[in-house]
Amino acid sequence: DRINIAIDGPAGAGKSTVARMVAGQLGYVYIDTGAMYRAVTLSAQRLSITAEQEQRLSDMLHSLRIDLEPGVSGQSIFVNGEDVTQLIRSREVTRQVSYFAASAVVRKVLSGMQRNMAGRKGVVMDGRDIGTHVLPDAELKIFLTASVKERALRRFKELPADQSVPLEQLEKEIAERDALDEQREISPLVRAKDAIELDSSHMTIEEVVGSIVKLSRT
Ligand code: C5P
Repeated sequence: DRINIAIDGPAGAGKSTVARMVAGQLGYVYIDTGAMYRAVTLSAQRLSITAEQEQRLSDMLHSLRIDLEPGVSGQSIFVNGEDVTQLIRSREVTRQVSYFAASAVVRKVLSGMQRNMAGRKGVVMDGRDIGTHVLPDAELKIFLTASVKERALRRFKELPADQSVPLEQLEKEIAERDALDEQREISPLVRAKDAIELDSSHMTIEEVVGSIVKLSRT
C-alpha cells in the first residue's frame, strides 16, 4: 500500500535531493514545501508587502494560485501561471523567507494546500513541519540533519562561480535561518517524537536514499 513520507530538517541538509530521489524510486509524488514559502515570499516582495502586514498578506494569498509540476530534473513551481522556479532561489528570497514563514496566515493557507496534495497517499513531502503539523499521521517520518559546517560547504559547492559567497558568510546565513525556523511560535522546526533522525554529515546521498526506501518497505 502507498504511504506518505515526511522529511523534515534544517536548511541544506539535503532534504530536497533526497526526497526527489526517494519519490523517484518508489514512484511517488515529490512535494517541496519550502518552494511554496519561497513563492509567497517572492510575490510579497514584488508587491512591497512585509511579513508583518497580515491583512495585505491574506488578500495576496487569496489571489495566488500555486502549482507544482514534477519534472525529470526536479519540481517546477508556478505562481498564477508564471514559472518562478529559478526566481525563488535568489538570495533576496532566501534571506527573507523565514520571516514570511513565521506569519500565521501564510502557514495556515500553505499547510492547508499541502494537506490536500497528500490526500491520496504516495507523497514524499519535504519541509520543516511536515511530520509535526502538516501530516502528523504520515506513516514514515524522517528528520534529516547535518552539521552547519557540512551544510554550508554543500551550498558553497552548488553556487555558480559568478555568485560566489565566502564560506563563512554562508555558514552564518544558514545558522541564522535555522534559529528563526526553530524559534518561531507557530510550527517551529523540531523533530517529531516519532521521526527517525538521520545525520547525513558522513553519509552519501545514495546511502541516505537507500535507508529511507528500506524503511518505507518495513
Ligand atoms: O526548504 P527551503 O530551504 O527551500 O525552505 C525555505 C524556508 O521556508 C525555510 O527556511 C523555512 O523558513 C520555510 N519553510 C517552513 N516550513 C516548511 C518548509 C519551509 O517554514 N514546511
